[in-house]
Amino acid sequence: MEWRAAGLCHSDENLRSGERVDPARDPSLYPLLGGHEGAGVVAEVGAGVTTVRPGDRVAASFSPVCGRCRYCASGRGSLCNGNKDFMVRGQLVDGAHRHHLDGEPLFLMAKLGTFSERAVVAERSLLKIDDDVPFEAAALITCGATTGWGSAVERGETRPGDVVVVVGCGGLGTSAVQGARIAGAREIIAVEPLSLRRDGAKRFGATRTVSSIDEARPIVAELTDGQGADRVILTPTVVTPEILHDGLDITGKDSILVVTGMGPLGEVPVPLDIAGLVLFNKQIRGCLFGSMDPRTAVPRLLALYKSGLLDLDGMITRYPLSEINTALADQNAGRNVRGVVTMGG
Ligand SMILES: [Zn+2]
Ligand SMILES: [Zn+2]
Repeated sequence: MEWRAAGLCHSDENLRSGERVDPARDPSLYPLLGGHEGAGVVAEVGAGVTTVRPGDRVAASFSPVCGRCRYCASGRGSLCNGNKDFMVRGQLVDGAHRHHLDGEPLFLMAKLGTFSERAVVAERSLLKIDDDVPFEAAALITCGATTGWGSAVERGETRPGDVVVVVGCGGLGTSAVQGARIAGAREIIAVEPLSLRRDGAKRFGATRTVSSIDEARPIVAELTDGQGADRVILTPTVVTPEILHDGLDITGKDSILVVTGMGPLGEVPVPLDIAGLVLFNKQIRGCLFGSMDPRTAVPRLLALYKSGLLDLDGMITRYPLSEINTALADQNAGRNVRGVVTMGG
């Protein structure tokens, strides 16, 4: 693969910073070549590869899709059973090490390592795209945009007229706001502590912006006659027990709370109003890749992008690969919605 564009997703940063995964706890993940959002051109193919050929433009699929397991066969490719070796070093197909740092094998994020000019990846980690799709837009579709959009539309099942709260407005949250807008939400309240991102959320369809869930609470009450939000989508950098509790607290009867942002690995205690969950018929749903199948999600969202309904270009800030640390610093400071590094021509 020759990667041409790669998006910076917070899942990479979680591993780099040790925020979610302590390097001492899982040394097998280091040294790490990050990057799991990407698009580029196939340079060469090995024996037996049939779905892509040299010269094809492709998007990365951070979830490799085998196409044959029960999850793939039922349109849930992001849950593919073939992913059991996903978070270990070595190639997906044969376990061989083809990427090294000072002689030591590298762990490639999601078996992709898109923060590079060239990488060897499995056929099932790639999805062919049309020649007229810009690499940067395609890169966004491969994780953040689809995950956020699907959180509101697929997993959250936002309906016309709903009051939707989106907590955290980076790449995921901005895409969730766009999904809720396209699904016909009557009010979209964006909760985001960083002011630049609050301004961004408005551009993508948020009807109101606040800096905390506490600030959103009276607005939700006013808009829903005290009933609570229909949908709450959690897309912050890290979903803490407090955010999970507060997110559920502002939902109303027959509501859905979608948990999309990553939490700490392992169990953490969460205070939960169990009686309220039952009596108000609420649901809490985890969400991976927008609960969509990469094989259908990528063409579907790219069609929305081409039609102008989904704004990806407005989310992107470009950096050359050599400026990736600037892109990362800007991401952590909320100076961009989605940083995209570009390689080669
Ligand atoms: Zn991601
Ligand atoms: Zn599968």
